Amino acid sequence: MIKKPFTTKEKIEEIVKSYPTPFHLYDEKGIRDNAKALKDAFSWNKGYREYFAVKATPNPFLIKILQEYGCGCDCSSLTELMLAKQIGSTGELIMFSSNDTPLEEFKYCNDLGGIINLDDITHIEAVEKSVGYIPETISCRFNPGGVFQMSNGIMDNPGDAKYGMTEEQIVEAFKILKSKGAKNFGIHAFLASNTVTNEYYPKLAGIMFNLAVKLNKETGAHISFVNLSGGIGIPYRPDQEPNDIKVIGEGVRAEYEKILTPAGMDDVAIFTELGRYMMGPYGALVTQAIHEKHTHKEYVGVDACAANLMRPAIYGAYHHITVLGKEDAACDHKYDVTGSLCENCDKFAVDRMLPEIEKGDYLFIHDAGAHGFSMGYNYNGKLRSAELLLQEDGSVKLIRRAETPKDYFATFDIFPECSELVEA
Ligand SMILES: *Cc1c(COP(=O)(O)O)cnc(C)c1O
Repeated sequence: MIKKPFTTKEKIEEIVKSYPTPFHLYDEKGIRDNAKALKDAFSWNKGYREYFAVKATPNPFLIKILQEYGCGCDCSSLTELMLAKQIGSTGELIMFSSNDTPLEEFKYCNDLGGIINLDDITHIEAVEKSVGYIPETISCRFNPGGVFQMSNGIMDNPGDAKYGMTEEQIVEAFKILKSKGAKNFGIHAFLASNTVTNEYYPKLAGIMFNLAVKLNKETGAHISFVNLSGGIGIPYRPDQEPNDIKVIGEGVRAEYEKILTPAGMDDVAIFTELGRYMMGPYGALVTQAIHEKHTHKEYVGVDACAANLMRPAIYGAYHHITVLGKEDAACDHKYDVTGSLCENCDKFAVDRMLPEIEKGDYLFIHDAGAHGFSMGYNYNGKLRSAELLLQEDGSVKLIRRAETPKDYFATFDIFPECSELVEA
């Protein structure tokens, strides 16, 4: 599959007159079409809800678009909860899937009416201590251990993951929670990340539905929802076949009708906490080539760096690059595309075949819409970029301004000798 940018060189040349590179650009139409397709794929389930994983792209403008399709917020920290509250995602529209949780965050979530998803059995006591009681609606995170493998070889390693409870613990937890007044129970698991196969969700659903039946039988708990969490992936590489959300939804439905319906449990709602799938393809890092260097290799230096998008640097992740205006040119030059951090891992691509790049060219780094801007950091004193929304009518809206040196120095407001920097 050819990966096509959702914008053009001409559009970027127009945008940079108002907003200099680098910036993250999001595609409103893509976000909307995808959110609608997800909703349709699970419309067979009455209680279905997507809780967008806020950590993937914590921008209120973007999350408000998802709210139009019924999405809530999956939060895992105080500030994510605060953001959800501020944009009107409260009550059942909050899922708090946190681990290693500070006590006071349970209370903050409960005060907003959010649903707490317990990562560990000891968190029952922690919630009692923090909230003062056990909420009527509560969820537990499951970890079956071992290796999770799919037929195409894709696998992940739950046995090595810090999250969730064992089966014995979750049975025990449900008994305790029930005795302390819980009435509506949920179960949650995240067993494989960035799966580019239609098989993952149905397989996970099968495991979870069987667990739901077992928990209901052994503890009498009423299972209100099964949360399949995140993990549906996107094709970062051009040779990957994208997931088909309709097929995934129908696959989950088949498991539901096979396992839950015969057990008389056809009132169970399906929840998801997708992040990458909701935003990944609909955001790009746009950066300009500012330097070329010919030494032992051919280097193109750009004005963005790993502080704007760290996945290539920390995971060696592939992000496709299009040189705007050269979409149809032959990829006959081999480059390392680098940022300016004093770290040799600061490369967006290594030995990548691209069209010949000249200084001034704009590079469109694909699939940066999730776990992109949000993983940004300030190493080397780099400032976070702006985020821009390419709206359906073709106009561009600033949805987060770029950091300035003043933002960077703000926490030195305790030093009078830094006052010039703080107020600059
Ligand atoms: C990160 C995360 C998600 C989202 O994962 P994606 O891979 O972006 O879909 C969902 N739920 C929890 C608890 C997470 O930590």
